[in-house]
Amino acid sequence: MEPALHRNTWLEINTTNICYNIKQQQKQLPPGTVIFAVVKANGYGHGAVEVARTAIKAGAKGLCVAVLDEALSLRAARITVPILVLAPIRAEDVALAQLKDISVPITSAEYWQKLVPFISAEKPLKAHLVIDSGMGRIGVRTATELSSLEQQIRQETFVELEGVFTHFATADQLNQVYFNRQLRVFEEMVAVLKERPLYVHCSNSATALLHSQLQQSSVRLGIGMYGLSPSPEIVEALPYQLRPALSLYSQLIHVKWVEGGETIGYGATYTVKAPGEWIGTIPIGYADGWLRDRTGSQVIVADQFCEIVGRVCMDQCMIRLPQRYPLQTKVTLIGQDKTKQLTADDVAHYTDTINYEIICLLSDRIPRVYT
Ligand code: PLP
Repeated sequence: MEPALHRNTWLEINTTNICYNIKQQQKQLPPGTVIFAVVKANGYGHGAVEVARTAIKAGAKGLCVAVLDEALSLRAARITVPILVLAPIRAEDVALAQLKDISVPITSAEYWQKLVPFISAEKPLKAHLVIDSGMGRIGVRTATELSSLEQQIRQETFVELEGVFTHFATADQLNQVYFNRQLRVFEEMVAVLKERPLYVHCSNSATALLHSQLQQSSVRLGIGMYGLSPSPEIVEALPYQLRPALSLYSQLIHVKWVEGGETIGYGATYTVKAPGEWIGTIPIGYADGWLRDRTGSQVIVADQFCEIVGRVCMDQCMIRLPQRYPLQTKVTLIGQDKTKQLTADDVAHYTDTINYEIICLLSDRIPRVYT
């Protein structure tokens, strides 16, 4: 979708804060442990290419994405650092990954057998073994499987086994019992490998933040780089204060007095209280990723919290104002006004979800402005 450049709704991405978060994280890590910036899902809604460039400037040595296409668009933007796709690509696309020097995960013997006929002899295939230490998503689950797969991979001439990794299911929880079990499984399984690959990695943001001293060659930093906590539960335990990078703004495009008893929006679900209310309209709706579950939540106008009233439409929604404000008055949906602030976590809390979902769903229709 093309960004709507001729509309009064925009995202501001503070690249200085992204740099700050990366540099703070780097300081926590043992010497030699490098950061791979996770820029999948359009950089968690922040814009993958711009975040990748910022992260590299701040010291990140590689990037992680979820699908091959995301890696290809980073290469098309002339980004040359190592890129790892975190989920299996289609076997028939493996030569393309090789051509573009994109690393891929090997998740099972069955998958490996499917991949082999498509491996080209032009350039080496860079591969990372995936261990399922308890996430239950992708990867091998036993040391026997791992050994056998390592052996098969090492027999293949045009393959470079450059990494091995796992992913934690509960690193963002204060209770570390399950985390410790997964870590033990991972370490025991890595120990059976004939040769330790260049990149041995297990940390997402929560792990990198709470267990920064784990000995590993790289960490995969996602949500923390964007300045958000992996979960509300661990905020107090974070080693430094994260600086959120994303703000979402709009402007009033319509303001009117509505008499008490009249209704607002689809389904006529909101009834204006007597004697009447000032109602403003802002140009953002569920097609922008500002979902229908935001009814009743707050935005900020002129440093005052105002409620979203009636159902959120596809492209617009309505808010109750304390007084009349002129058209083009700024509305803050995520970010800081003079003294009031709304965070992605506030929105997530209201809608009973996680901050990741709030930011990832902000659609390409909203232009991103980088500061
Ligand atoms: N590693 C893998 C395999 C992931 O799937 C993700 C995100 O979902 C990450 C790292 C980054 O996680 P976070 O954003 O919590 O740092």
